[in-house]
Amino acid sequence: MTINLLVDGSAVTCQEGETILTVARRLGRTIPTLCHVEGLKPEGGCRLCQVLVNGRMRAACHTLVEEGSQIVTDHPDIRSERKNLLGLYQSAYPHAFSNPSSPLGRLAQTYGLKALLAPERPKSAHPDHPYLRFDRSLCVNCRRCVQVCRSVQGQFVFAMGERGGFSRLMIGLDDTFSHSPCVACGRCVDECPTFALTDRDHYADRSAVKAVQSVCGYCGVGCRIEASLDASDQLAIKGVRDAAVNRGHLCAKGRFAHHYTRHPERLTQPQLRKANGFEPITWTQAYEWLVDRIQSTQKKYGPDAFGLLTSSRSTNEAGYVSQKLFRSIIGTNNVDCCARVCHASTAQALQKVTGTGAASASYADIEKARCIFVVGANPTEAHPVVGARIKQAALAGTPLVVIDPRAIELTQFAQLHLALKPGSNVALFHAIAKVMLAQNWLNSTYVQERLEGFETYQKYLESVSMRDLAASCAVPESAIHQAAEILGRGPTLFVHGLGLSELTQGVDSVATLCNLAMLNGSIGQPGAGMLPLRGQNNVQGNADIGSMPNLFTGYQSLSDPTVRTRLQEIWGWVPPATPGKTMPEMFESAAQGTLKFLWLQGEDSVQSDPNTHHIRQALGNLETLVIQDLFFSETAEYAHLILPAAGALEQDGTFTNGERRIQRVRPILPPPGESRPDWLVMCQLAKAMGVDWALDEPSQVMEEIARVAPHLFGGVTYEKLEGDGIQWPCPAHSEGTTTVHAKGFIRGRGLLTATPYHPSPETCTPEFPFILNTGRVLHHYNVGSMTRRSDQSILVAADYLEMNPEDAKQLALEEGQTVEIRSRYGSAQLVLKKSERVQPGTLFSSFHFPQTRMNQVTSCHVDPESKCPEYKITAVSVRGLSSEAKG
Ligand code: SF4
Repeated sequence: MTINLLVDGSAVTCQEGETILTVARRLGRTIPTLCHVEGLKPEGGCRLCQVLVNGRMRAACHTLVEEGSQIVTDHPDIRSERKNLLGLYQSAYPHAFSNPSSPLGRLAQTYGLKALLAPERPKSAHPDHPYLRFDRSLCVNCRRCVQVCRSVQGQFVFAMGERGGFSRLMIGLDDTFSHSPCVACGRCVDECPTFALTDRDHYADRSAVKAVQSVCGYCGVGCRIEASLDASDQLAIKGVRDAAVNRGHLCAKGRFAHHYTRHPERLTQPQLRKANGFEPITWTQAYEWLVDRIQSTQKKYGPDAFGLLTSSRSTNEAGYVSQKLFRSIIGTNNVDCCARVCHASTAQALQKVTGTGAASASYADIEKARCIFVVGANPTEAHPVVGARIKQAALAGTPLVVIDPRAIELTQFAQLHLALKPGSNVALFHAIAKVMLAQNWLNSTYVQERLEGFETYQKYLESVSMRDLAASCAVPESAIHQAAEILGRGPTLFVHGLGLSELTQGVDSVATLCNLAMLNGSIGQPGAGMLPLRGQNNVQGNADIGSMPNLFTGYQSLSDPTVRTRLQEIWGWVPPATPGKTMPEMFESAAQGTLKFLWLQGEDSVQSDPNTHHIRQALGNLETLVIQDLFFSETAEYAHLILPAAGALEQDGTFTNGERRIQRVRPILPPPGESRPDWLVMCQLAKAMGVDWALDEPSQVMEEIARVAPHLFGGVTYEKLEGDGIQWPCPAHSEGTTTVHAKGFIRGRGLLTATPYHPSPETCTPEFPFILNTGRVLHHYNVGSMTRRSDQSILVAADYLEMNPEDAKQLALEEGQTVEIRSRYGSAQLVLKKSERVQPGTLFSSFHFPQTRMNQVTSCHVDPESKCPEYKITAVSVRGLSSEAKG
């Protein structure tokens, strides 16, 4: 309902439920606040926002607009009241007014407060945290930090202690960040009006000489960042306030873990392997060497002796020109990327079931959702900004169901946690579907009008017993019934991750989860649908632009004559119509000696791929290995040529996040030394091989992508990507798509999948009695090449093994003890941590530190369709080595 009122004598129409502060600020009025956080529930504590409402003083932050009100926002009485209030604050907290550049200091000047003679300022305590600082003498107890920590991050680090005049801010239980549950998101620093809370990089109280808006280079959430340099060239990062993805929020990695960019170990010059090791060469020499190697390998072995793994940390433009070079000039479809070892199962399943291998929903659906299922994902650690949004939705009352063998943090906020047996997703999803069908908890209209395969699926579910399904997934039938009932109430948002895809039944796990999402009519509805969380910053984009052996840019068929004609026109070449090799197939061919030339962009395969011995053997067999990376890695030890790459903060282009949002990436720093962006290297190499693509800017590459795949990107231009970017599909004249499959599935009808559950071939035996699951922890990122070279290593210095205390007791193992885990494939040593999060008989470990060599332990099993490795299940034994590391 609309409300009509007068603001400073002007007629204004606004909405019922709005506060006077919201309306006045929208009109451009300046109303000071101390305790208020934009977008959060008003505190109403500081009273600085007082205005006159029908002649009486009222706090604008929590007074709602009323029909016919007369509001005055500026008046001598108001100014005098605000000045008095500020004076009271000043006498209580004199030091807090000492910095004229803090928001409070600026306010004091505006209202003409004179400096007070303050007692000597106590020295602030030595920082106990690598990033965050607190100076109690500057704190005015405004509680903004308490609010944002609670209502944005959901972490409850801060509280108010004592009472009355003794009231004071408390950090954790002992006033230290390091002993508190703080996750170092830094949002409290952004809100502090006095600089009592600051951070290592001093974003809040610095004078920037250069600032750009870009996108975080870590995970697939794709948070928008503002990066700035001050006069002494120090870099700092904060979240963009009005960004659709993150609304000013970041995690510790995105905000603070940027020191890798200037790390002394950065590669800065091309290096060629010689008899005595690597020698620096110029780019001209590097291109000459490459042209010679490519031509001689082509001549001797043909195009299929080549392979390319593009980098999902690099830009869309880089991925596009890289696969173009291999597909056109070299003539092979042996092009793949790291999605193969994480989300290939998801992409393949969604493609098969819905017609497109990407999320149907958007992050904004988290707040709109009726109910959220988090399945095989640990968002608060691996995708922290999305994790915080899910946590907030649950705190606000949205029913949350977690399906995960581990008691991840979100289970504390969940209505139901189904702790299934590792890898048994398909059995559990069929069991839930069986109850939904039996109870008729379906969206029958949706099933009839939009799906196919229902009768087959129904027959299949009738043929399997509930007892067998429940036994297979080790979830009580009562809990299965409860989950089905929740789904039966209506559309649901399914947030899922690698706990579904990194299994031998990865494609089936995702496809059968889609069964649930389709039976209750979720896919294509706002606030519902499939929202897979993507790993690397641009893993979505890298697959979109064609880093897949079986599909061209925009998921177009290799054999589609229209597409082939279009590529012939644009590229001047017809690429081969036969699918190339996937990443595991490339390594297998290298091990067998048929793949001779491999180019790895940003891939440390020795550390990140399963079964390290096999990878080392394959790499050692190659005639040519080219590495394009930020740092020398274990994989680079096998290289013949190393090319120094530019990082996310050093290049121009675009990244696409997990909700299909293409966003602009801009450089704040130049690439160090001679390092160059990947897209430029590929264009220069093409030229060195006699082909001038006339692609001189990343924007021109995007224009070509739009022409090659007009159905997805035809309407994408750099101009339209300003601000929050565009979510594909974005054909010509479109503004992008928030919810895919809204009017119908891209493939026509959604496909229900009746594949039976097949247990993993990796089984426990008396020799290997535990199931090991590997994954990420909050403070590190994949192989850790960037986070290990930042202060994140102070927060978490090594990989550790989580073991249930019951199991530790049985094996007489102690917290902090070094243990050896051994599988059928290899062994690794790491430190033991007792944890109730893992079920008895199961273990969890991260894989961020090369010295752990975790992938010597993981198996060679892969999903037969997607070839995604089964990182989530390896049978292992554990034995204690020493108790020296106890601590
Ligand atoms: Fe970067 Fe992901 Fe953290 Fe956002 S959530 S700041 S994208 S690492």
